[in-house]
Amino acid sequence: MVYIQCKCGYIWDYRGSSNYATCPVCHHKISINKHKIDIDEQEIDNWLIEQLKKAEQKLPEDYKAKIQWCTETLKSQAPAMQKMVARMFALSVIKNL
Ligand SMILES: [Zn+2]
Repeated sequence: MVYIQCKCGYIWDYRGSSNYATCPVCHHKISINKHKIDIDEQEIDNWLIEQLKKAEQKLPEDYKAKIQWCTETLKSQAPAMQKMVARMFALSVIKNL
């Protein structure tokens, strides 16, 4: 996913394919190459799945179903909101180890 940060500070996710984008807040036209923040979500998800695998061995049995749901959601093409919940769940599990 590519995010653009405008000079005014606003950040949004960019889905277009041109070299310039117009900021929805201040309407400045900005160069995408100079202002893009490239975030590889697949890379983040793979890391989370890796951590969940380690966590599963240390956590009580009743976490198994949740961790399985989380792993499957991160691997699938689930809706963005569901993926976000899975990422937050993964972080909360990893944090408590
Ligand atoms: Zn702006």
